[in-house]
Amino acid sequence: MYQPRSERIPLIFEQGQPGRANRYLPSDAQLSDYLPAENLRAELPLPESTELDVVRHYTRLSQRTFGIDTGFYPLGSCTMKYNPRVNDAVANLPGLRDLHPFAPDELSQGALRIMYELERSLASLFGMAAFSLNPAAGAHAELAALLIAKKYFSDRGELNRQTVIVPDTAHGTNPASASMAGFRVVSLKSDERGRVGVDTLRAVLGDDTAVCMMTNPNTLGLFEDHIAEIARAVHDAGGLMYYDGANANALMGIARPGDMGFDLMHLNLHKTFTIPHGGGGAGAGPLGVAEHLVEYLPTPVVRAIAKDGSTANEDSRTYWLDFDVPKSIGPMRSFWSNFAHIVRALAYLYANGLEGLTDVSRLAVLNANYVRVKVAPFLETPYPEICQHEFVASAQELKKQSGVRAVDIAKALLDRGFHAPTMYFPLIVPECLMIEPTETESKETLDQFIAALEDVVATAKRDPQQILDAPQRTVVARVDETRAARQPDLRWRAPAGVT
Ligand SMILES: *Cc1c(COP(=O)(O)O)cnc(C)c1O
Repeated sequence: MYQPRSERIPLIFEQGQPGRANRYLPSDAQLSDYLPAENLRAELPLPESTELDVVRHYTRLSQRTFGIDTGFYPLGSCTMKYNPRVNDAVANLPGLRDLHPFAPDELSQGALRIMYELERSLASLFGMAAFSLNPAAGAHAELAALLIAKKYFSDRGELNRQTVIVPDTAHGTNPASASMAGFRVVSLKSDERGRVGVDTLRAVLGDDTAVCMMTNPNTLGLFEDHIAEIARAVHDAGGLMYYDGANANALMGIARPGDMGFDLMHLNLHKTFTIPHGGGGAGAGPLGVAEHLVEYLPTPVVRAIAKDGSTANEDSRTYWLDFDVPKSIGPMRSFWSNFAHIVRALAYLYANGLEGLTDVSRLAVLNANYVRVKVAPFLETPYPEICQHEFVASAQELKKQSGVRAVDIAKALLDRGFHAPTMYFPLIVPECLMIEPTETESKETLDQFIAALEDVVATAKRDPQQILDAPQRTVVARVDETRAARQPDLRWRAPAGVT
């Protein structure tokens, strides 16, 4: 994983030499024997490199980053668990992979059945009446949900309902989505237990309340134990309850948002349902709703009817895409969903079954509590009680003693072979480190991480400069994040000697 720092790795096309090639192909081989002739363009000469140079180049590039495949990645609120390879293999089956999105329903029965079965499974696992697989990410589903709320209140003539209530521990996408949908956001201060206080909530409820957005367990890793009372208060005021289920890893088979009183919710398949993520790649954010909101879900809706008109017999069903849903908010994106992710998620769900998913959640909670208890003696844990899938620690005291901050701890962990926890979130914890181990890590890995963290804290007290200078062993030193964002320099320039 560790490579010497160098200014710049030459790109592969800078490394070639005319006439340089390996000898693994016949000497009279033509490119057009191996590549489709229409893809070969004379104006784009291919670099002439040896196979060995190409293999080394891409292998080195792949090692210049940190991924779940290289090490422990306790990035709180992101659920960086292991993604079983078999799910990729299933999504890559030619009949699924090569299916055209415009193929007619009668030629897409298998794909539609996969969408239907995932939708039904999520509805039963989370206690909602129906899901839409249409939104492409968590934030996208939040926006869809708020557009549904808008339409629902407009249909009821309640145009005064313009306010969305968001606790101060919420993910930043919650207020952003509410604001994008045209709502006014009211931020709710958490109580000393790190939760929403029912009386604080009651004080902001009124006939302008549209939606209360909650994350449960919240981003401090704590279960909102007054959730039933909170839902009742919001409903009594005429509002809707929204559940941010991006991190459902503590919940599966144990508790259902539908039973807690939520009317709308989203899931991040790319977190809980083991879809590779972290590089900003494609996601999938199914949106679930209770019975009274089903007719507002995005189109198309996958329907199933048996030849005799019933929905009972699985094997005689016909599946079809329904675009004609009068109250629907319409499609949230092109085509129907990130279909390969739907396949991965269903493969994961069926491989585990309800029992397996329940074990996933139990183990995720156990691992988080194990690390929390082991970390507490050397780093403050501001909410020292049983947590769910993650917990927060704080470097506030350490900063006072040594000048070492959360960001410095994060950099020093990289030197020790671990990805950093989430930093400075949730916003209400000063010098916050948010740690989510997930269920897929062994006790040995957790122990190594705890030892590394303890070593960082001990070093900070003894020799803070060592931690302030970290990382030393990664390929890139500390980057200037502000300059990288404001003055990105992404243009390729030919180095000397390359034309
Ligand atoms: C990740 C996350 C989101 C946003 O999900 P995206 O798919 O990144 O849009 C929302 N809420 C919480 C709590 C999250 O952790």
